[in-house]
Amino acid sequence: MGNLAPHTMDTDAVCIGFGPAGIALSCVFEDAREEGGSLSTLDVRYLEAAEDTQWHRELLLSGTDINHHVFRDLVTPRNPRSRFSFAMYLKSQGRMFDFGLLGRPASRHEWSDYVGWVSRQVDRHTHFNAPVTEILPVIRDGRLCAVQVKTPDASFNTRNLVLSSGSAPRVPVEFQALLSPTLFHTSQFLTRLNALGDSLPKRWLVLGSGQSASESVLELIGRDRNIEVHSVHRSAGFKLTQLGQFPNRVFAPDHVDYFHSLNHAARHRFLDWSRSTNYAGIDPDESQKLFSLIYEDAIAGRKRLQTYAYQVVSQVEKTEDGYRVVLTDTFSQRTQTLDVDVIVLGTGYQQYLIPPLLSNLQPWLKADIDGGLVIDRDYNVATRGECDVSVWVNGLSERSHGISDSQSFSLMALRAERIAHALEHSLNTPIDAPLLTQ
Ligand SMILES: Cc1cc2nc3c(=O)[nH]c(=O)nc-3n(C[C@H](O)[C@H](O)[C@H](O)COP(=O)(O)OP(=O)(O)OC[C@H]3O[C@@H](n4cnc5c(N)ncnc54)[C@H](O)[C@@H]3O)c2cc1C
Repeated sequence: MGNLAPHTMDTDAVCIGFGPAGIALSCVFEDAREEGGSLSTLDVRYLEAAEDTQWHRELLLSGTDINHHVFRDLVTPRNPRSRFSFAMYLKSQGRMFDFGLLGRPASRHEWSDYVGWVSRQVDRHTHFNAPVTEILPVIRDGRLCAVQVKTPDASFNTRNLVLSSGSAPRVPVEFQALLSPTLFHTSQFLTRLNALGDSLPKRWLVLGSGQSASESVLELIGRDRNIEVHSVHRSAGFKLTQLGQFPNRVFAPDHVDYFHSLNHAARHRFLDWSRSTNYAGIDPDESQKLFSLIYEDAIAGRKRLQTYAYQVVSQVEKTEDGYRVVLTDTFSQRTQTLDVDVIVLGTGYQQYLIPPLLSNLQPWLKADIDGGLVIDRDYNVATRGECDVSVWVNGLSERSHGISDSQSFSLMALRAERIAHALEHSLNTPIDAPLLTQ
């Protein structure tokens, strides 16, 4: 491998995204290097849009914590002897004993610091500030023989792609044309909030019932005592996430085997059932904080937080000084109108049937009856026709592997191991045509 031109490079594989999933993959290769394993020889480049590693930087708020066990870190379920574990991080920071005494989960700040600590040790092949803008097919004699992965500054030729780019913010259609510095998704929360300066607008609407929405509400009210938040819910209001041990077994590896073995319709049903273990729910302590806030305000004769249950936003328009929002009650169909300065969309994340980054490769991708990717147990995307390119999804496999394999740390380390071995197998399968494309 080597540079073909100043900014063009051939490489065994390209991993798009160096968030936790991409870092966990890099840890597999780094561990193999130390042990002299066969995986150590692969040349994988990691392309990351952000300038550095922070975990969900837009919601790194004080008072927030993680909702998985610290053993489910970037490596431990795969290799408890790896030096990239949370335990090793604590040891290196001199907090091992104090963490044991803490009696609560790691904070999101601490987890982000851990992820950054690992990232700095395994980012030798990572290009930061390198958002992938396009993946172009390279066709020779009618065959897809490689792809060119484009960033603004460079281009990487490869036959093996690992998509570790995370889930996409879900922006309901009625808001899409109105996105602005005063109408934004929680994935931009801190940037937008900081841009509004010290004197924040007074009237806020926060849409959604999940963790991001509840954290945004608490942060806004904590920042400025004059702020009024209208918290709008399709259901009764903030509800608790499913915390029972038995339902949370969906986050164990055998459940992924089970889920993957199901037929298409059964997977849909299972996914719907399991959503309560992760999505659109909050922790008991957060629910307590929100409810207490409303209660204590009632005693003090003020109303900083008002919740609206069973409401959908049926209309939203930009006005001279903010937004006019019409809410419709889902049961009675009665409407009410709110005038607000800023709208925050705590509307969660989504996984596309075909990730937009793969759209140019669609002619070579097999589709299931919904039109989505067909993904095997090792996260390899099924292809069709004349194709020498292999694609893996690392965290974008909710429909094929269930809730634990996407949007969660639970199986990240084990998933990375499977992908790394499948990648090695693919690279050991000879292809006659040279990769060199220019
Ligand atoms: C606020 C919040 C809190 C959460 N808390 C928990 C928790 O406590 N426990 C848990 O298990 N899960 C939690 N999750 C779920 C979360 O998805 C996972 O924890 C984890 O971040 C998933 O890692 P990932 O690498 O797959 O995706 P991400 O963390 O989203 O990382 C994806 C990376 O890809 C990069 N990227 C995207 N597109 C491109 C591109 N085109 N080119 C280059 N780079 C790109 C992004 O910049 C990012 O760095 C939380 C999610 C949110 C939003």
